[in-house]
Amino acid sequence: MDESRRRAWDWLEIGPAWIPRTGAPELETDAGARHVPGATGAGAQDAAGVADIAVMNWESLRAEVTACQRCALAGTRTQTVFGVGSPQARCLVVGEAPGAEEDRRGEPFVGRAGQLLDRMLAAIGCSRERDVFIANVLKCRPPGNRDPLPAEVAACQHFLARQVELVAPAVIVVLGRFAAQSVLETDASIASLRGQRHSYRAGSAQIPVVVTYHPAYLLRNPLDKGKAWRDLCLAAELLRATPGAMPLG
Ligand code: SF4
Repeated sequence: MDESRRRAWDWLEIGPAWIPRTGAPELETDAGARHVPGATGAGAQDAAGVADIAVMNWESLRAEVTACQRCALAGTRTQTVFGVGSPQARCLVVGEAPGAEEDRRGEPFVGRAGQLLDRMLAAIGCSRERDVFIANVLKCRPPGNRDPLPAEVAACQHFLARQVELVAPAVIVVLGRFAAQSVLETDASIASLRGQRHSYRAGSAQIPVVVTYHPAYLLRNPLDKGKAWRDLCLAAELLRATPGAMPLG
């Protein structure tokens, strides 16, 4: 058994009885596109802030997020969660919002869901520290882990948009329904969004997007790990297809 297959079986927890999918990833249609900084919902006061964010470098952006008071979540958070990983990553992973543990530690995807995400990434030869940058749509925790409100997403989306521009990843992997709907600006279900290639417009670039299940969902619904594995294979194919792509395990 080669190492990459062993890692895949490890996180799928299905052992050698599993029969790997062969051939090219299914469905490669562009089913969504969005635009980036400064494009939506800004009043006169907000517009100046958005314009500033759109030209920030990485450290300025991090400092802006750390001090951000743009929505009510600033009053309930312990700290902001900017993201973790390499700013030069070829794969950008996007989740919904920090949970309680992330709020305490200031890092996205910690705890059991984070461990599963690390195993998902390892299954395609990626590590959290080296190969990906992990961020959320919202940088602050919604109280009680409720769904983010539209006003909170509108206030915060420019930070993620600028992160996408600065990282300029070869692929964006979006985890879960809420993040997928936010990134792709759609109301479509995750069942209809996963399993295919979408597109995110960042400036003049069109960045491929793959949607899959959130690790927390997969912990509750392990039978869907097979579908998530196919999504990860699609992301790996897109990474390999990009010039200068990192070697994948
Ligand atoms: S969620 Fe985003 S917009 Fe709201 S306070 Fe936090 S960083 Fe600012």
